Amino acid sequence: MTYISTRGETASLTFEDVLLRGLARDGGLYVPESWPMVSPETIAGFAGRPFAEVAAHVISLFAGCSIPDDDILSMARDAYGRFGHPAVTPLVQIDRNRFVLELFHGPTLAFKDVAMQMLARLMDHALASRGQRAVIVGATSGDTGGAAIEAFRGSARVDVVILFPEGRVSDVQRRMMTTPTDGNVHAVAVKGTFDDCQTLVKGMFNDHAFRDAVNLAGVNSINWARIVAQVTYYFAAGVALGAPHRPVSFAVPTGNFGDILAGWVAKQMGLPIERLVIASNENDILPRAHATGVYEMQPVVETSSPSMDIQISSNFERFLFEASGRDAGYIRGVMGALAQGRRFELGVCAGPFRDTFEAASASEADVAEAIRRTQAEAGYLMDPHTACGLVALGAETEQGAVPGVVLATAHPAKFPDAMERITGQRPALPDRLSDLLAMPERYPVLENDLAEVKRFVEGAVRSETEEVT
Ligand SMILES: *Cc1c(COP(=O)(O)O)cnc(C)c1O
Repeated sequence: MTYISTRGETASLTFEDVLLRGLARDGGLYVPESWPMVSPETIAGFAGRPFAEVAAHVISLFAGCSIPDDDILSMARDAYGRFGHPAVTPLVQIDRNRFVLELFHGPTLAFKDVAMQMLARLMDHALASRGQRAVIVGATSGDTGGAAIEAFRGSARVDVVILFPEGRVSDVQRRMMTTPTDGNVHAVAVKGTFDDCQTLVKGMFNDHAFRDAVNLAGVNSINWARIVAQVTYYFAAGVALGAPHRPVSFAVPTGNFGDILAGWVAKQMGLPIERLVIASNENDILPRAHATGVYEMQPVVETSSPSMDIQISSNFERFLFEASGRDAGYIRGVMGALAQGRRFELGVCAGPFRDTFEAASASEADVAEAIRRTQAEAGYLMDPHTACGLVALGAETEQGAVPGVVLATAHPAKFPDAMERITGQRPALPDRLSDLLAMPERYPVLENDLAEVKRFVEGAVRSETEEVT
């Protein structure tokens, strides 16, 4: 399996290359040269197998001969052994023909653990085989940073520095980043906003001398290996509900178009998916683009589902590339228009976008109503991100229809303030995290200043290199 960029860079790369590189040099995103297919017999054979085995099978199809299958399987067993549920991503029935796919049983209670736990092991493996080390710097508005720190803590080859906006992430989110004691992971509060943190990270990547000196790597949601690791649970859930003999529908709370793209990839590979529903909150750029054929940024509004408070859906580029007939010129054109005028017309992609997906946004009132109703009728408590998915899935279909699955992307205890406003109660953290609120925290607070942040990164990295050599 080789990879190409959506913007036309032609050198084809291996899975390991794109894993370590993240963004292509021409600014595009990597996609496989062709889609691996999974036959109905193979899908049927997934039934009853442990999640780690299904995941390893799916990931191996994308890793080609870049990483031995046995190594992928042992990494998957290790990664998913850390989850708090034996099924890893269990399905819970909430109505006659409706299910919630719980993706939040990982160490930081959000679905990003499913991909990040695997990504960390894949990166360590790739770096070891090349005799290299890497430094990951990232900006977080909450969930990604914790998932990255949990996934890479203790890594022999990777140092992690995560920037978060001081005072603007929840207590639980901050503590998940600041309580691990491993020497290779660092959470840093920046006196600024999330956008400031992102600008600092871009500044470090754009300083090529600095980037090469510390071997910077990225783990944000455009990293192809993260998408691949998310394709896994669509297969696991589909098979549990009758695939390949019966189709399944999915509603996916999305911001960056990562998780929904993974569902679309599963469908490309042969999983029978009937409806793929994009669920957004009041930041509804994707449903608007779906309805009007115009992708147009608007100011971000704050909602009870902050991980979806996003106006740029980076992974959408991967779908557009395919829908345009793999036309890198089209992609360069629309991305140029977006950068200049904050909007573009979907043109040839408008039809395929409408035909492939459905899309709906949930208002804050819809979200509150869905949470209260599901609690009253099914005795099931869902978080506000998941509730956006339930709203977008729509009314329960009639008897005999295709099962509808909502992806539950976060545990309700991760957003206790929003849950208390909606239900009157603060959900308790799972037992394995009950001491989180008492553990000591450790983090520096830095000015919103690129030179100061670079100095911190260099200091953090150097000591680690000395230990290893
Ligand atoms: C990141 C995140 C999302 C959105 O994921 P995408 O990759 O943008 O699809 C949804 N819910 C939660 C809880 C998240 O952390």
